Amino acid sequence: KVRVRFAPSPTGPLHLGGVRTALYDYLFAKNQGGEFVLRIEDTDTARYVEGAEEYIEEALEWCGIIPDESPKKGGKFAPYRQSERRDIYDRYTEQILKTDYAYLAFDTPEELDAIRTEFEARGDVFSYDNKTRNRLKNSIALSEEEVQKLLDNKTPYVVRFRMPVDRTLNLEDIIRGNFSVNTDTLDDKVLVKNDGMPTYHFANIIDDHEMEITHVIRGEEWLPSLGLHTLLYEAMGWTAPKFAHLSLILKPEGKGKLSKRDGDKFGFPVFPLDFKDPATGMVSKGYRENGYLPEAFINMVALLGWSPVDDKEILSLEEMTREFDLYKVHKAGARFSKEKAEWFNHQYMQAKPDEELLQILKMSGFDFGGASDDKLLKVIRLMKERATFPKDIYENGKFFFEAPASYDEKALKKAWNDETSSVLSELAERLEGSDFNAEAVKQTIHDFAESKGLGMGKVMMPLRLVLVGELKGPDVPDILEIIGKEESLARIKTAVE
Ligand code: GLU
Repeated sequence: KVRVRFAPSPTGPLHLGGVRTALYDYLFAKNQGGEFVLRIEDTDTARYVEGAEEYIEEALEWCGIIPDESPKKGGKFAPYRQSERRDIYDRYTEQILKTDYAYLAFDTPEELDAIRTEFEARGDVFSYDNKTRNRLKNSIALSEEEVQKLLDNKTPYVVRFRMPVDRTLNLEDIIRGNFSVNTDTLDDKVLVKNDGMPTYHFANIIDDHEMEITHVIRGEEWLPSLGLHTLLYEAMGWTAPKFAHLSLILKPEGKGKLSKRDGDKFGFPVFPLDFKDPATGMVSKGYRENGYLPEAFINMVALLGWSPVDDKEILSLEEMTREFDLYKVHKAGARFSKEKAEWFNHQYMQAKPDEELLQILKMSGFDFGGASDDKLLKVIRLMKERATFPKDIYENGKFFFEAPASYDEKALKKAWNDETSSVLSELAERLEGSDFNAEAVKQTIHDFAESKGLGMGKVMMPLRLVLVGELKGPDVPDILEIIGKEESLARIKTAVE
């Protein structure tokens, strides 16, 4: 049975790349009739951020990417938080130390620094490789007695992986195909830190094995670790899962990785919530707060690196699940586009039932001046076509809920002349006696203009100005109907006095 995990570290808000990984994990698992697991990788206490785990769960939930197993939900392989799996790691640390694949390293930061300086003086990049290994204090370079003495003296140590010398590893990646790496280009990574906590590398393969993960889908930044991970599986005598490394999401201009900081630059602190980003110290708003509909958001994210066979663009989560093919995920980086993201939202806005938009707007905390649902629905119907976000309906339609506080200067010059006040006063009298649906008021205005020998524009333009405050918005008769007789006449009155 296919089992896929999303394994974020709780170090901050979830960004676009993380959401895409989670979504592909989910889509692949569900497409294969398998399970999707959320595992929190919190062994790095220095980078731990309070609240980040809840945030991640809530963010996934908002996206509709619901795990079958998670810290909150539990499951057959609980606990799903690495900090709670210490005894499991301890057991396997013991196991790997019995093999030639791992050793204890007692070297101090000072000793490491001294060697690092030597490397740098030569113009080399420091590497804890097999040559360095033999010069430092560790269980390979020292005798058994010396090691025992260090242990008896409670000398701090870490467990390191012993990278084999000059071996060619043939690695496989679902997206990138096969490639090979020589172990001499790799170093002896720390597996267990001196506080006894495993590092990402070790905890990750242990958990993937223990949790019976069949496919690891993750960001390209982990591709250089694939050699180490493959050897770790070998060291433990386990079968490795299959790997798929997702390429980067690129900046809109196509060059360079889209980073957290680009979020704000492009109006996208990438994904949601009022959350203080530890990197920037800023409380960032996210897609959710910016008015993205979750369906539109994940649709946009899904297509950053994958497209269905028929190149269809609008797909529900169910459709994506049906059509998703991990083997067809693009090798090249996907370019992020804010315009495209907005386009998706616009499409989903149009498809959204008015009743649902009404609920969204009512929950958004806008001041609708006590307007009834009926009135709001009329506004939605009229304004939705031009709206990219729910808030656009409010912002472009404010005049439905409050009289304009002032008139746009330029518009006033264009729409107003010496006769306008008296024309509008007379029109107000006619409107007083008119039915107030769009059809009827349109006829009334038409008849009035004709009787005065004026063009429709001459009447409509100033009327629009006094109702809206500027020369924008939907058809004037529609506006009149929604605002209603009393308020419309009041606005004309204010203007002509
Ligand atoms: N904890 C790692 C991260 O947050 C997970 C990488 C992986 O999926 O193996 O990037």
